Amino acid sequence: MLKRLFLILGVEALLLVVLAVIPLTVNNSFVLGLLTLLAIYGILLIGLDITVGYLGQVNLAQAAFLGLGAYTAALTVTRFGFGMPAALIAAAAVGCLFGGALSFPALRLEGPQFALSTLSFMALTTTALNEWESLTGGAQGLQVPRPPLFGVMLGPKGFYWLCLILLVFVWIAMRNLLSSQWGRAFEALRDSPIATDAMGIGTLRNKAAAFTLGSGLGGLAGGLYAFNFQYLQPQVFVYDLMVILLLGVVLGGRKSLWGAFVGATIVVLLPNLLSSRILFQAFSGLGFLLALTAGIRGFVTKTTRPFQAVAPVVAMGMLVVGGIFTSNTEDWRKAIFALMLFAVMVGLPEGLMGFAASFLTRLFRIPPPELPEPVPLDEVLVKKVTDGGPLLELLDLKHYFGGVRAVDGVTLTISSGAIHGLIGPNGSGKSTLVNVISGLYAPTSGGILLHGKPLAKGSLFKVAQRGLSRTFQNLQLFSELSALDNVMVAMKGIYRSPLPLVLLGLTRKNERRAQIDALTLLKMVGLMDDCRVPAKDLPYGAQRFLEIARALARRPDLLILDEPAAGLAQPDITRLLQIIRRIHDRGITIILIEHHMDVVSELCNIVTVLDHGKIIAEGEPGEVKRHPKVIEAYLGGTVEPAGQQYIEQGNIVPVPA
Ligand code: ADP
Ligand code: MG
Repeated sequence: MLKRLFLILGVEALLLVVLAVIPLTVNNSFVLGLLTLLAIYGILLIGLDITVGYLGQVNLAQAAFLGLGAYTAALTVTRFGFGMPAALIAAAAVGCLFGGALSFPALRLEGPQFALSTLSFMALTTTALNEWESLTGGAQGLQVPRPPLFGVMLGPKGFYWLCLILLVFVWIAMRNLLSSQWGRAFEALRDSPIATDAMGIGTLRNKAAAFTLGSGLGGLAGGLYAFNFQYLQPQVFVYDLMVILLLGVVLGGRKSLWGAFVGATIVVLLPNLLSSRILFQAFSGLGFLLALTAGIRGFVTKTTRPFQAVAPVVAMGMLVVGGIFTSNTEDWRKAIFALMLFAVMVGLPEGLMGFAASFLTRLFRIPPPELPEPVPLDEVLVKKVTDGGPLLELLDLKHYFGGVRAVDGVTLTISSGAIHGLIGPNGSGKSTLVNVISGLYAPTSGGILLHGKPLAKGSLFKVAQRGLSRTFQNLQLFSELSALDNVMVAMKGIYRSPLPLVLLGLTRKNERRAQIDALTLLKMVGLMDDCRVPAKDLPYGAQRFLEIARALARRPDLLILDEPAAGLAQPDITRLLQIIRRIHDRGITIILIEHHMDVVSELCNIVTVLDHGKIIAEGEPGEVKRHPKVIEAYLGGTVEPAGQQYIEQGNIVPVPA
């Protein structure tokens, strides 16, 4: 523990001290200028990494937020006589404001559409800054006097230290935020927006929060940028800068503060590298070697496909060759950045820091953080009182996909405390029914009551808030999060602490409690030892169990399991039966979709059979599987006399004599 703290915090402290004392020892205004820019870009890229790294969205608007912040700071000083602190706050606020406004339309979009909407925002901003001459001075540019800081005029060194201090504040606050429930939520929605809503975390609000925050940091960086250069021109905040910022984040390493810092260093140094041929050749040679090493390593360990290993080597090779034949590398800057971005995206998706981190962790044997001990299950899932009364009522529920009547008038009551089986042949509408109940789809018509009150329709998030939790037939895990984080992020009752407390890192106790509860649930499904493994690296059966543990973190009244035994081997099915019984013991009502008839017979008090979206039978498992209509549905038309056959593992087999 101490070693870990020492190694990790020690390196950061050392870096800070070195950065802080350089201006005292090196009296060079060029170096000082680079360092100041490094601190400013550090803040900017930490902001950009929130959307690019954590949300996993290509954000092309960060250069625009830098510009908006810069002009805001400049104008509040020149027009309203703001001091430095007020102007910087205004710059950050304008970043947040525009970011928040943009997030509402933009964040309903995903992937390329999101990227395009941020691109349009960027184009609009540059145009506005250019054309609104009465305010911005247009292409002429705008002079910005550097205002005093609490009455003190800052020289270049003083201003550098100010930027450095702000970077440290942002660094610490972001580390606290991103290692809290907020950061987990950001990552969760990158991996599965559906599950983020179904686990009551809320996709839109988190996306909006992340984007607003990242844009606010962009605005703050812009304010510092304005006071650093003391002269602004709109054509700075354009595509060139945007590409190089993206390159910085991706090359530095996503989802990492160090990555953002390394990225900022690259962003600051790159233009200077291009101005000298020797430097550029040295640099591209280094890049070539790096690509070669990464390529060979990937090839030998068979972790990369041949294309992934070869393409970056070719791209960097082109830079080396190009460096020999071109006299002026600056003219080629766009092509150079593009090649580098390509090489990194393909060959080093984890970035330099990701590449270095695995290596460094092994070198220094940095132990993973210690975890608390789990507690008895009773403390995490307090037993609920069940009275057998109606918990969930469906009233003539219908859901059509165009002409397909997937759910066609289902009226059904689920009693509190039951394990209610839902069976039927493939395509009979079981999944659609629970998707409608849980809010993934809005029903075509019909009513749903939970605890006698209407349930919100078509909103996973609102339904989750009402105490319903579920798993998915096709797993919807947060694949890059560890098993522990998958459960922690869904944990209800460990409320998100107020933002200021999170930023100051004063919520460790809450985090600890969430960890203990999550570990207890993982222990219950037998995944304690795998708690640090990313969900995507778990075996298939373990992933199914993890999804159940995550659903339980909601402490639901009603749990819906959509084919939990699908694809499981026999030992795992036995384990599943035990787990479901234990959940039931806690007073949680369960709807169990299953086609393994033995699982259903073993567990359920009551079974409803669907066919073509309609209920064809309901009753005790023993009764139901001898029901002629059920046998007909499973057989597809051929009716045998009742009692001659029963359903086993989804298939009809004759009743043994
Ligand atoms: P089950 O879970 O019982 O196997 P489903 O609810 O998945 O059945 O499917 C019921 C019917 O609805 C099937 O005919 C299926 O093809 C159709 N269906 C399911 N999901 C969709 C969808 N997203 N779009 C169109 N049709 C769908
Ligand atoms: Mg299904």
